[in-house]
Amino acid sequence: MRYISTRGQAPALNFEDVLLTGLATDGGLYVPEYLPRYTPEEILSWRGLPYHELASKVMYPFVEESIPEDDFRQMVRETYDHFPHRAVAPLVQLDSNEWVMELFRGPTLAFKDFALQLLGRLLDYVLERRNQHVVIMGATSGDTGSAAIEGCRHSKHVDIFILHPHERVSEVQRRQMTTVQDDNVHNIAVRGNFDDCQKMVKASFADQSFLGDKTHLVAVNSINWARIMAQIVYYIYASLALGGPHRSLAFSVPTGNFGDIFAGYLAREMGLPVQQLIVATNQNDILHQFMSGNHYAPQTLQHTLTPSMDITISSNFERLLFDLYGRDGRKVFEFLDKADGTAVSLEEPRWQRARQLFDSYSVDDKRTCEVIAEVYGESQYLLDPHTAIGVESARQCRRDHSIPMVTMGTAHPAKFPEAVERSGVGVEPVLPPHLTDLFQREERFTVLDNDLKTIQSYMAQHWKFAE
Ligand SMILES: *Cc1c(COP(=O)(O)O)cnc(C)c1O
Repeated sequence: MRYISTRGQAPALNFEDVLLTGLATDGGLYVPEYLPRYTPEEILSWRGLPYHELASKVMYPFVEESIPEDDFRQMVRETYDHFPHRAVAPLVQLDSNEWVMELFRGPTLAFKDFALQLLGRLLDYVLERRNQHVVIMGATSGDTGSAAIEGCRHSKHVDIFILHPHERVSEVQRRQMTTVQDDNVHNIAVRGNFDDCQKMVKASFADQSFLGDKTHLVAVNSINWARIMAQIVYYIYASLALGGPHRSLAFSVPTGNFGDIFAGYLAREMGLPVQQLIVATNQNDILHQFMSGNHYAPQTLQHTLTPSMDITISSNFERLLFDLYGRDGRKVFEFLDKADGTAVSLEEPRWQRARQLFDSYSVDDKRTCEVIAEVYGESQYLLDPHTAIGVESARQCRRDHSIPMVTMGTAHPAKFPEAVERSGVGVEPVLPPHLTDLFQREERFTVLDNDLKTIQSYMAQHWKFAE
């Protein structure tokens, strides 16, 4: 499998090289040149497989030129054996034909573990073979940072630097990052906001000279294709558990960077019968504005009770645009260039295609809390606020009640106790056993000024082979 850039001007790469880069050299994102496609009979033959075996089958065509099958299966098995729940992605029933897929049963309690636990192993494997050492740099408003640190802490060939906005992430989220004591893990608290952190990461990827020529940066946010790839699997797993593929399914997905739901779109393109894919957003609703009204207009960031969805530009939307434009990279570039600062829309037939593929809905903080309370009242099931947005969007957009509706449960409620408290349910979410001592563990992080040179020289001095 080769990978091509969504802007059409960068060289095609194999899986291994895509894994080790961030953006393509033309500023685009890598996507597979083609998708494997399956008949319902082929998908049916996977029914009953344990999660890791299904995962190997679904992902292997994407990596086969780079990694021998036995090695890959082994890594995938280790990845998902590490999840404390045997089902890995258990389904919980809310109502007669309504479900939550609990994607928060991994080590850091958010769905990002599905991809980042695997990514750490893939990186170590490939870097060992190449005898290389790389530096991961990422910005986080919470969940990505802890999942990336947990996924890479054991990688011998990786140093990981995660920037978070000082005093602006929740205590649970901060402690999940800062209590990891491995020498290759570097937590930087920036005196600034999340956008400042992200800008410095972007600038550092664009000019990596501060690191010298013995290493380079690798991205762990969802511009990295390996993350999308790993997320395709659980859509198929959900379908097989609920009577697919001979029965269609609907999914509602709490969305920020459009990574998780884009994986659902790919599962459908690969042959999985999916009747509805619902883009569920908070008040930062550029994607909902686009899907519902063909209005793609930059917004100013609003801070909500669902910080992991507080995003104004969804990077993976570019991957969808590429398909909507018939895979013409030049057109993608023109659209995004125009969209930089002004409102734009797609030609009507292209937008109609997007409308066919996705429904969308936006939920504000007040309603989010109400939904947490309502669902708790109906079924004593405690939702995290991100998942609550998914459930509300599912209920608002649902077309056919005979089709199972699955909301992706993206985080554990104990990660977001503030929203749960505000909902007034009167119960406190409890951290699972492997994290009960989180508040006793020692923290380690460095507070630095919101200044690119300061951050870069800190990194240059602290990675493993720094001079
Ligand atoms: C990252 C995250 C999201 C958004 O996922 P995208 O792939 O960026 O759309 C939603 N909910 C939670 C809890 C997250 O951590």
